[in-house]
Amino acid sequence: MSREVFDEIKRQIPLLDYLQAQDWRPARQLSRGRWMGLCPLHSDHKPSFLVDSVKSLFYCYGCGRGGDVIRFAELYHQVRFPQALALLHQWRGLPPLLHEAAGFYQMQFHRHAEAVAYLLQRGLHQAEVIEELRIGYAPGRCLRAWLTSLGYPLESLQQAGLVNAEGHDTYSHRIVFPLEGNLYGRSTGAATPHRFLPGTKGGLYAWEKVRGYPEIILVEGMFDLAVLWQAGFHNVTCALGTHLNALQFRQLCADDRCGGKSRTVYLALDSDANGSGQRAAQCLSHRLRAEGITTRCVELPDGHDPNSFFVGGGNAHEFRRLLERACL
Ligand SMILES: [Zn+2]
Repeated sequence: MSREVFDEIKRQIPLLDYLQAQDWRPARQLSRGRWMGLCPLHSDHKPSFLVDSVKSLFYCYGCGRGGDVIRFAELYHQVRFPQALALLHQWRGLPPLLHEAAGFYQMQFHRHAEAVAYLLQRGLHQAEVIEELRIGYAPGRCLRAWLTSLGYPLESLQQAGLVNAEGHDTYSHRIVFPLEGNLYGRSTGAATPHRFLPGTKGGLYAWEKVRGYPEIILVEGMFDLAVLWQAGFHNVTCALGTHLNALQFRQLCADDRCGGKSRTVYLALDSDANGSGQRAAQCLSHRLRAEGITTRCVELPDGHDPNSFFVGGGNAHEFRRLLERACL
């Protein structure tokens, strides 16, 4: 490969964008375009990693390593040069591809009565919410043909996990929620209920919209979030599971627009018959308190999650009562 090819990749992928996508955050700005932060390449305790976002170069005063975005990918993923290039290509190529797939699924949603019926069964009927969440439907056996007709090679579809090794659409009979850098697929039939594409599930859902609220309701599932949005609760975010990844946890703990550590997080996780949801909530609550966040555990009726609470006839007023009664 020629020097021009490398230059092109470096031009297409600014180092700072790539670092931020790997959850790197600058600790302070030195001068225009020059940032210091913790080094993602070694166990760093005070910021020693310098990023020049104009030249797209980094240097670490701790471990003495530095270079461009390709060098960073090599060191960070511990791969050789050709694999680092492939990873960068894949990283850059994924978002437009997922965007395309999500748009296609959204189009399919309105064409399939079973998809609309499934949403009604989950208590979701407001067109505005369905639109805002960009909910789609994967009927199966048609995404591959569509994306190939747009010029995406089969190999990229397989790399992204949209098409399996046999060449079939991975998502079939699933309601699809686009996430940041992933697609969550909820089965409408007997298949494994929850599916994600390979890679991270990303940060908390719609965090940019929610982070300014001093009180935040955290739920496990997208259908919990959807019915709460529909009921007029806008300060809701979703972790897509009971276990928060490192990025999601940091988001909840960050000193933020709501005035630092004064945030209260209402944990509205599933109330499972075997108590696993309650234990997960307790455990998360401990971890958040250790970071100075106020938490409250919302007690739903036995065997309920916020979604089934509303499907079972619960309303906004009753849910507000549950929030008021939520214990520390
Ligand atoms: Zn370092």
